[in-house]
Amino acid sequence: MTTLAVLGAGAKAVAVAAKASVVREMGINPPDVIAVERTGVAANWYAIGGWTDGAHRLGTGPEKDVGFPYRSALVPRRNAELDERMTCYSWQAYLIATGQFADWIDRGRPAPTHRQWGQYLCWVAERIDMEVAHGEVDRIAVDGRRWALHTRDNTIHADALMVTGPGQAERTLLPGNPRVLSIAQFWHRAAQHDRINAERVAMIGGGETAAAMLNELRGHPVSTITVISPQVTLFTRGESYFENSLFSDPTHWTALTLQERRDAIARTDRGVFSSSVQDVLMADDRIRHLRGRVAHAVGRDGQIRLTLSTNRGSEDFETVHGFDLVIDGSGLDALWFTSLFSQDALDLLELGLGGPLGSDRLQEAIGYDLAVEGVAPKLFLPNLAGLNQGPGFPNLSCLGLLSDRVLGAELSPTDTAGGDPARPALRRDDEHQSIR
Ligand SMILES: Cc1cc2nc3c(=O)[nH]c(=O)nc-3n(C[C@H](O)[C@H](O)[C@H](O)COP(=O)(O)OP(=O)(O)OC[C@H]3O[C@@H](n4cnc5c(N)ncnc54)[C@H](O)[C@@H]3O)c2cc1C
Repeated sequence: MTTLAVLGAGAKAVAVAAKASVVREMGINPPDVIAVERTGVAANWYAIGGWTDGAHRLGTGPEKDVGFPYRSALVPRRNAELDERMTCYSWQAYLIATGQFADWIDRGRPAPTHRQWGQYLCWVAERIDMEVAHGEVDRIAVDGRRWALHTRDNTIHADALMVTGPGQAERTLLPGNPRVLSIAQFWHRAAQHDRINAERVAMIGGGETAAAMLNELRGHPVSTITVISPQVTLFTRGESYFENSLFSDPTHWTALTLQERRDAIARTDRGVFSSSVQDVLMADDRIRHLRGRVAHAVGRDGQIRLTLSTNRGSEDFETVHGFDLVIDGSGLDALWFTSLFSQDALDLLELGLGGPLGSDRLQEAIGYDLAVEGVAPKLFLPNLAGLNQGPGFPNLSCLGLLSDRVLGAELSPTDTAGGDPARPALRRDDEHQSIR
């Protein structure tokens, strides 16, 4: 039996484990899914995870739940049954089971808070009896043909590994300087109802992480808020049917050129604010935008001085700006997990990539199954799959499809070389699209 370890018991781990559990109920042997989690299931949707205070609202509709889009293509001739069984773990099923359904409908189907969304994910995890190994993964190594995930007290071996989550919210430009807050420090203060009292505040970052913090900051006694991002302005996310459908259904994504895909992601995902947040922010005349990349930060005379580098034509200009408080909301580091990799794991990855590890190279190597092509044991990186496979894979837009791709992958050579004859192999969904 193969084992799939998931770093982090968040939305993706719950979705994959739920689908594996349903497939098992149907008499097919999927891989054993084990999540390794440092805090608790769905921790990043609560204040404790450091990415929210739990009270802000989900941007995507909650119907984009662990089974969405309910178009499984994993078990030949039984995909409709698989989808039906998956609806037992839907957002609506959760509301019905917990007596909240009528209320939610009558209130006009409001977006749940992050905390409510976390409660839903915990409910699914409990119902499927998801296997969770508690501990912070501090090293990932290769042990023969398996991954070895090391925590302080334990080592989990697995035939395949899926890395999830946005990384660490504790990062800041100037560690230890009380005038610079990390994302985690900001949300910790917000969750404690600790007022942020400052004249000139800078928010670094023009993406959704920064947008959520700006939304919170509006309620605090600050005089001006300068949003710093490299983009020309603060763009609003494209949210029409056409843009949304790219996230739910990436069927035609791979037919686009790399440049077309990058353009689509720039309009809909990276460094853009959702229109609902943008509307609120526009109405607040304390907020302005400053274009630039932070090149340098220093604390001086009770201020933080930020040196911004701005590209104009072929030249870079540097300007210096002083702030009383800086919030480092630049957010995600796509390669955060590589700092956990041992040298042998890094070598394996670079060998598979055919060159030094870099974000672009890694993104371009993500295959149909959301794993890095040419790397064995399998390494699934859905958070880096947007460019190659579809913009919905890094987020909540198509968790059901993500689960199909991952579970449909051949997790170990034994699957193809005969392996366990009692185990009907799960196959890739493109082979079965027509069978359904
Ligand atoms: C504030 C905020 C709001 C968002 N809103 C939306 C939205 O509305 N719609 C949307 O599609 N996307 C949204 N996102 C993006 C969101 O992160 C992803 O869609 C989704 O949570 C990703 O799921 P995941 O399973 O990859 O990670 P997560 O749900 O973030 O889970 C990662 C887990 O890994 C654990 N972990 C981290 N490091 C370690 C370690 N070393 N060892 C063990 N465990 C570890 C964490 O504790 C966490 O439980 C939002 C992100 C943020 C930060």
